Parts: sequence; C-alpha cells; structure tokens
Amino acid sequence: MSKGLCGQLTFILCCIVVIFSISGQACSSSPEISPTPSLPASSPVSATPTAALTVAPTVQPPMPTAVSGSIEIISSETETDFPSSLTFRVEAESSYKIDSIKLRYKVKKISLAQVATEVEPEFDSDKHVETSWKWDTRKAPLPPGAEIQYQWLIEDSAKRKTQTSWTTLVFHDLRYDWNTLSDANVSLYWYTGSQSFGSQLMNAAQGGLDKLSDDTGAHLEKPVKIYIYGNTDELRDSLVYPSEWTGGVAFVEYGIVAIGIAPENLDWGKRAMVHELAHLVTYQMTNSPYGDIPTWLEEGLSMYAEGDLEERFQSVLTSAISGGTLISVQSLCSSFPADPAGAHLAYAESYSIVDFLIQTYGRDKMFELLNIFKEGSSYDDALMEVYSFNTNGLEADWLKYIGAN
Ligand SMILES: [Zn+2]
Repeated sequence: MSKGLCGQLTFILCCIVVIFSISGQACSSSPEISPTPSLPASSPVSATPTAALTVAPTVQPPMPTAVSGSIEIISSETETDFPSSLTFRVEAESSYKIDSIKLRYKVKKISLAQVATEVEPEFDSDKHVETSWKWDTRKAPLPPGAEIQYQWLIEDSAKRKTQTSWTTLVFHDLRYDWNTLSDANVSLYWYTGSQSFGSQLMNAAQGGLDKLSDDTGAHLEKPVKIYIYGNTDELRDSLVYPSEWTGGVAFVEYGIVAIGIAPENLDWGKRAMVHELAHLVTYQMTNSPYGDIPTWLEEGLSMYAEGDLEERFQSVLTSAISGGTLISVQSLCSSFPADPAGAHLAYAESYSIVDFLIQTYGRDKMFELLNIFKEGSSYDDALMEVYSFNTNGLEADWLKYIGAN
C-alpha cells in the first residue's frame, strides 16, 4: 500500500477563476472517449534503486468557441491537491434551465493517440448552476508536471449548447517552491539546494544526453521535465504507490523524471538522474505500438549514459565472470532478478553488453538497432538485421569480448 503517503499534509491551492461570457453551440467533432485513464500495464515507469522560479498555475482562460445561444459561463476554476486530487468547477447561467454539463479532459502523453475522457458531474437543473468534479488521482496517478487539457460542454433546455476551448493545466506539486532551469529540451525543477546545485544537475543532464547522442545517436525528440525532490522521503511522499527502494522514477509516457536528491548526495544524484533521463530518451526513440525492446538494452543504455561503470557494479561483474555465474543474455531480455545481488549483476551485464556493441560496431549500428525496434521487430530479428547475430550469437561474441570463455 502507499506507505510513503502516511501522514502527508494536505495542501489545497486554488488556481484561477475566469469570468467571461460565451454563447454558441457544441463542436461537431469529438475526440475519442475512453474510461478514466490510468498508467498502462506495460512498464511505463522505471525506477532507480537506491538516495528561481516559482511554478505558477498555468490554467489559461477558456475561450468561447461557439456562435449562437446565450449560455453564460460565469466561472471555471481548478483546484490542485497534489498528489491526491484535481477538482474542476464551473458556474453557468442561461435564460433557460441548464440541463446538461459535461467535462471532457485528456492527459498529455507521448503515445500516438490522445484519448479524451468525458464525465458528467451532478447538479440540479436550473437557470443558474454550479457544479464540480473531483478527479481522484490516487486511483489514476499522475506525475508532478503532468499536463491535462480540459473543456466544459453545457446545454440548456432550449437545446442551446456552448463549450469552452481546450484549456491546459499543469498538475504541479504546489507544496514546494520550485526553482527552474531550462536548456534545450530539458526543464529542471528543484527546491532544495542552491542555484549551483541546480546548474550542476542540469550540466549532468546535458552531459548524459550528449554522451548518448554522440555514442548511440539516441536523442530527445520531445521536451522533458525533471523534478528534483529534496530527498528520497519527499519523493516517495509525492508518489501514490512508492516502493521502499524508489529513489527516482521515469514516467516515460509523460516525459517526466521525479527523483529525490539531497545536496549532500549530489554525486549519486547526478548518475541516478541521468539514468532515468536516458529512459525517457530510449522511450522516445523506440516507443511503438508494435512491441518493446529487450531489458538489457533499455537498462544498458541508461547505465551507459551515466558514464563509466561504477566500481560496485564492476566488481560484481568481475566476480560473476571468474565464478562462471553470469546471467544469460536471453534471461536479461525480460524482467531483472528481484534480489539485490542478482539485480546488480543484471545492471552490470547490461552496461557491458551495450558497451560491447558500441565499442565494437559503433554509433550508427546502435542507432539503426533503435530505429528497427521503433518500426517493430522481434529481438532476434532486429539483432540479426543490424549485427548479423541473434541473442545467442550476441552472448557468444560478448563473452569473448569480456574474456569470459
Ligand atoms: Zn533503469
């Protein structure tokens, strides 16, 4: 259960109130409607085992888009109670009784199809009405910085309709006073530590991205946000379902990383942040409806982006080589071992396999491999097409490379 949320204070901060008049009729084209969105079952979240600008509400005034009728929207506002809920409120008036109010919203994700959800909050039909709808974001968790678009659709008993244009709001964690830095496609937010702390993290992020781009061709295609919480406890407090060991989380579909880094833990934090950031890059480079990529490649690229393999991983790898206890590459295609020793070895081997492919065959081949996965391919077919060996052939060549046989 969400242990990390116990004792969490509740902060409710109201965004804005917009007053304006609109009139008109509903748009004829509707976005695809689906049930309440949730994090997809396929692993959209990856985690690292473990360690000034005030973000202002970004609700934009809904603009009238309709052309006839006389329904007046008196106010539209949202209220963020991060990470628990998001409440939408509307107040409207008409010369006839208002008998239908719908809220339509969609969450911005990288996935190909933007899916909208429609809800009908309860209210008593009248000429002047107010209603609200509360989104329980504990049931469908949203990361900090997630962007939601919404609009109201209102109809009165004379069948006159009106709707607001799509308005974007950002699900900010308003409990903290965030500083921010932006560079190219990366926006970094933090609230603990100095300006130099933020700058060093941004430099590390850009360094990791440069290394990935230089050595593999993989790069960010869309902007990303990185939220640096003050420590791992405060990170876990921001997550609805934190794991005991969660130190950082990549919400790949949202292009968002959330991680806890205390200023005294900066060296660990740089590597962990770059690791999670690399997951966003890999997702953007390979995400497709046709399949996924082997775990050794996913995690190996993130380990590679961090820099040279850390001694603690190197020693685990060296011991496994000399002891003949390496995990097979085939096994590393799927979930990693849950036990810490096995997991450490899996990460170390993944780094080593990716390092072997890059050092031996170069940047362009790795870039080609990622592109083939984006187009959809089995693991063996993709390897065969680029390197002329399958997973077992990769293992044989890699073992030779590391002197394991
Ligand atoms: Zn990872």
